[in-house]
Amino acid sequence: MFMPVTSLAGIGPRLATLVEKAAGPHVVDLCWHCPCAIIDRRYAPVVAEARPGVVATMTLKVDKHVKPPNKRLPYKVFCSDDTGTLALVFFHAHEDYLRKTLPEGEIRVVSGTVEKFGQELQITHPDHIGTTGEIAKLQTVEPVYPLTTGLTLKVLSKAIRASLEMLPDLTEWIDPAYLEQQGWKPWRDAVLEVHAPEDEAALEPKAPIRQRLAYDELLANQLALALVRASMRRIKGRAIEGDGRLRAKIIEALPFRLTDSQEIASREIAADMAAPVRMLRLLQGDVGSGKTVVALLAMLIAVEAGGQAVMMAPTEILARQHLATIEPLARAVGVEIVLLTGRDKGKTRSAILEKLKSGEAALAVGTHALFQDDVEFKSLALAVIDEQHRFGVHQRLTLAAKGRAVDILVMTATPIPRTLMLTAYGDMDVSRLPDKPAGRLPIDTRVMPIERLDQVTMALKRSLDSGAQVYWVCPLVEESEVLDVAAAEERFDHLKGVFPDVVGLVHGRMKGKEKDAAMAAFSSGQTRILVATTVIEVGVDVTEATVMVIEHAERFGLAQLHQLRGRIGRGNNPSTCLLLYASPLTPAAQARLTIMRETDDGFRIAEEDLKLRGAGELLGTRQSGLPEFRLADLSVHGDLLAAARDDAALILNRDADLESERGQALRMLLYLFERDAAVKNLRSG
Ligand code: ADP
Ligand code: MG
Repeated sequence: MFMPVTSLAGIGPRLATLVEKAAGPHVVDLCWHCPCAIIDRRYAPVVAEARPGVVATMTLKVDKHVKPPNKRLPYKVFCSDDTGTLALVFFHAHEDYLRKTLPEGEIRVVSGTVEKFGQELQITHPDHIGTTGEIAKLQTVEPVYPLTTGLTLKVLSKAIRASLEMLPDLTEWIDPAYLEQQGWKPWRDAVLEVHAPEDEAALEPKAPIRQRLAYDELLANQLALALVRASMRRIKGRAIEGDGRLRAKIIEALPFRLTDSQEIASREIAADMAAPVRMLRLLQGDVGSGKTVVALLAMLIAVEAGGQAVMMAPTEILARQHLATIEPLARAVGVEIVLLTGRDKGKTRSAILEKLKSGEAALAVGTHALFQDDVEFKSLALAVIDEQHRFGVHQRLTLAAKGRAVDILVMTATPIPRTLMLTAYGDMDVSRLPDKPAGRLPIDTRVMPIERLDQVTMALKRSLDSGAQVYWVCPLVEESEVLDVAAAEERFDHLKGVFPDVVGLVHGRMKGKEKDAAMAAFSSGQTRILVATTVIEVGVDVTEATVMVIEHAERFGLAQLHQLRGRIGRGNNPSTCLLLYASPLTPAAQARLTIMRETDDGFRIAEEDLKLRGAGELLGTRQSGLPEFRLADLSVHGDLLAAARDDAALILNRDADLESERGQALRMLLYLFERDAAVKNLRSG
């Protein structure tokens, strides 16, 4: 099943590229490539009764071939039955071939869409032509698959049929009682049947066959996560309890009071750390909900207990931002903190590493540079991972391996719907920060056509006069950072013309130092408008920024818009977000903008996003680190996911190493869905 698609008859390197693009690189991917529509060829009328516009399979006598007078006109083959005549029409015809497949005087079965041209019935380029002996093969329901440019249905269907012939018969992994209760077929039958839909209903995600396969995929996902979890649990944790002395000082020093949810989250984290098992907790809170302080308090528990703590961010800008927040507080209580990013080289780097190894630095903030093999700690007790969806389980584990029984706190800013959270983290403990710090004002969000850009610029003038700072986010040009940057530079030049001396620019292709300088200039208020590509999406914190303009907002996903908007509304002044769109809007884009205007509630936005897009695309899955599903659709299969989670827990409870007969079958399931990395987490591989 994991052979390349080129191992299938008729798939050479050129077609393989296309098949790979449509379905995937392996034979198994073709088996998972489900039909999206059907062509019903069972309608077999006589000519007089054939309905135009409908696909029909007809038995006809071939009467006469008629060559066109010139090449631009089509070649016609006139056919008939007892009730009437019908023409088969071919453009750019190969006469030899047509005379061979449609010999005059013979009976042929022809399938295609019937059309009426003037008074004449015709079929242009029939899909299939066969002899009367082949009628059973033609008069069927044909699955239609999602294609890609250059790949025809015929070729892909043939490849899929060939892949299905390689389908093995595997021992059942679903609990027999559950299988029966659901009325599901055995796995192999289910796969075969998915590719032989009898009607439209069979294409629905709710169809039993589809549900069964979705369940397989979700079970593999939940089992894999449960295994990772179990293997982490196996390394005994240590109880880390502080005396509260550093935390008390920090809380004293903060210019605000903790919100109730910050207090609760802090207590939950402290309790986890004090317990002798390892902590694996998710701190989930919308942008601006105040996760950093909660994380800092957790880190100080580690320090109070004589250990070290690290905080890791997905980007360098964010790491520096965290440092800027945490460093003054840490210094105030006499705790040494270092920053480690990919930019640190040579002597600087070794000095930092030495401080971590000796324990002189109790705290570290950094990027994934903290993962590197030569980074050692004296006594790492807690790793805080500011995830923003960019790290995978694997990296999480690598960091965890750096300390004896390191506790892990994952922070995530995008509120993930419960269903998705399960697929990404399994049954992780969760603390939520649902309320924003007191005093925050709601953001006034307006949606307007991009033609009003000049008006927007005028309005900016007024805002700047009253002291506001402005983020100006430039359009996202798909898969081309170069084009993103060009657009941003153009806007930068334009705005600089209108507002000399106060416009800054930051984008993904700038060098680290330049980026820092641009950010610093904006933070300090030296520049007042920051033109940016989506690099500011994550975590940048300038409380004076109260205006955000997003150009071509219709090109952004909901989650991204929400993240971006979260950059404003952080201080005590009212904020405005202008979403500029270009017409025409697709219904989905329209819906996204409406939701943005209606609500600022991240959890609601996330749920709506799931509904609008389906889980696959949610949060821009590619870069998100969230699993992608081939067969399951989380906007529909949420209940199956819950069942799979319970099933996975039950399975590991009874058979932690998957050694029973069902356990062996489940190992096969894990391999099948390429989660065999998870199998390696079993004690005996
Ligand atoms: P995020 O959850 O997005 O990481 P931050 O931790 O960066 O949010 O906090 C956003 C801003 O809110 C920061 O400027 C922080 O100092 C401030 N803040 C955090 N907690 C409170 C609070 N309880 N009251 C008022 N402001 C707070
Ligand atoms: Mg933050």
